[in-house]
Amino acid sequence: MTCEFKIKDRVGTINPIFTCQPAGAQYASIGIKDCIGIVHGGQGCVMFVRLLISQHLKESFEIASSSVHEDGAVFGALDRVEQAVDVLLMRYPHVKVVPIITTCSTEVIGDDVDGVITKLQEELLDVKYPDREVHLIPIHTPSFVGSMVSGYDVAVRDFVKHFSKKGKPSLKINLITGWVNPGDVKELKHLLAAMEVEANVLFEIESFDSPLMPDGSAVSHGSTTIADLEDTANAQGTIALNRYEGGAAAKWLQKRWDVPAVIGPTPIGIRNTDTFLQNVKAMTGHPIPDSLVRERGIAIDAITDLTHMFLADKRVAIYGNPDLVLGLAEYCLDLEMKPVLLLLGDENAGYAEDPRIKALQENVSHDMEIVYNADLFELEQRLKDGLELDLIMGHSKGRFVSMDYKVPMLRVGFPTYDRAGLYRYPVVGYAGATWLAEQMANTIFSDMEYKNNREWILNMW
Ligand code: SF4
Repeated sequence: MTCEFKIKDRVGTINPIFTCQPAGAQYASIGIKDCIGIVHGGQGCVMFVRLLISQHLKESFEIASSSVHEDGAVFGALDRVEQAVDVLLMRYPHVKVVPIITTCSTEVIGDDVDGVITKLQEELLDVKYPDREVHLIPIHTPSFVGSMVSGYDVAVRDFVKHFSKKGKPSLKINLITGWVNPGDVKELKHLLAAMEVEANVLFEIESFDSPLMPDGSAVSHGSTTIADLEDTANAQGTIALNRYEGGAAAKWLQKRWDVPAVIGPTPIGIRNTDTFLQNVKAMTGHPIPDSLVRERGIAIDAITDLTHMFLADKRVAIYGNPDLVLGLAEYCLDLEMKPVLLLLGDENAGYAEDPRIKALQENVSHDMEIVYNADLFELEQRLKDGLELDLIMGHSKGRFVSMDYKVPMLRVGFPTYDRAGLYRYPVVGYAGATWLAEQMANTIFSDMEYKNNREWILNMW
C-alpha cells in the first residue's frame, strides 16, 4: 500500500480549484472593522471575487477597485490609486484601514504602491485629513505566483506587521483562524470562552452571519479592531490554526516580538480539537473544563453511531485549501474511512515538508494519492479511468463532476453556494466533528435511497 505525493503531470489547468492571490487578501481584509480594501487592478479582480464571497456568505459588503484601464496598463496607474483613496475616504467617513491590494497587471507594470502610499501620507492624509486615523497598507499579491491561499497568508502577515505594537504584556492569546466560515469562528470563540481565555481573533468574520435589522442595514463588516491588531505584539502566544493561512504571521510575531507561535493543527475532528485545546491550556495555564469534556463525549457518541456501520471503508476524494483537505483526511482516517485522493490546488514548496503529508506517507494502509498543483479535471479524469469513490468532499465548483459521475458530494470549503446555510455550521471543534460525520453519513444515505443501493440498511436503524 502506498501514498504517492506528486505534482499534476500535465501542463495547464482545467477547472481550477483555486482563484488568485488577491482573492485571499480580500477575504482577510473583510474581517477587519472599519476597513475597505482597494484592489489595484482591473475591475474584474474585485467584481468576480466579491461575487464569489457574496455567493458563499450570502451577505453584501464593500471592496473598492482602482479600476485600471488600458492607459494605466501601459503608462502606469498610480494616479488611479491616489484618486481611489481620496474618493473612498470622502465617501466613507468611518473608514480607518485601507489595504492597497495589488494584482497581476499592476505588479507586472511595476507600479510603486509603497511609494505612492508615502506620497499619499504627505500630500493627502496630512493635508486633507489631518485629524483622521487612516492606515494605508500595501499588500503585494501578484496572481502569477501562489493562489488565494497564499494571498490570505500574505495579507494576514502584512496587517500584523503594520499594526503590532509593543505595549504592556497582555493575558490574551492571538488566534489566527485561517480561511474559515462564520460558524467556525463562533465555535472557536465558544471553546475559548469555555476555557475562560481571551483572544485577539484574526480575522473575526462571525458577523458575516448577520441579522437583517429593522433599520434596513444589509451590509456586513468584520469585527477585528485596530486595537486587537496592535495588541498582537503583547499576547501570551499565537495559535495559527492553519499552516498555510496565517502561519507566516505567527512566525513573524515570534521573530519580531518574541510571541511564542504554535502552528496547527487545524482542529478538524476529535484528535485535532483535543490537541488545539491542549495547546491553549499549555499557553495560558487555563484548564479544560468539564463542559468541554462533555461536549467531546457527545461528539464521540454521535460518531460511534455512524463510524463502523456506515462510514468504515468508504472511499473519499477531497479537494480544496490544503489545511482543510489535510484536516479532513486525518479525520476520515479516524472514522475508518479511506481517503484515496487528495487534490491541493496550488504549488507550494512547503508541502513536501508538511508533517501531516509525511505522516500520511508513512502510515496510510491503503493506496492513496496526494496531488498538488491539481485541478478538478484531475478528479474527473480519474473517475473516467475507473477510480471508485463513495464520496467527494470539496467546494461547489466540483458539483458537475459529482453530478456527471453520480458520486455523492458533501460541500465543504470555499466557495459553497449550492446548498443552504453552510457558512453557519462549523467544521472545527467538537461541534464540527459531529456535523461533518453526520453530513457525510446523510449524504451517503441520500445516495443509497436515490440509487436504491442497500437502502434496506437504513430501515434497520
Ligand atoms: S488573475 Fe489577475 S486579472 Fe485575473 S482576477 Fe486575478 S489578479 Fe485580476
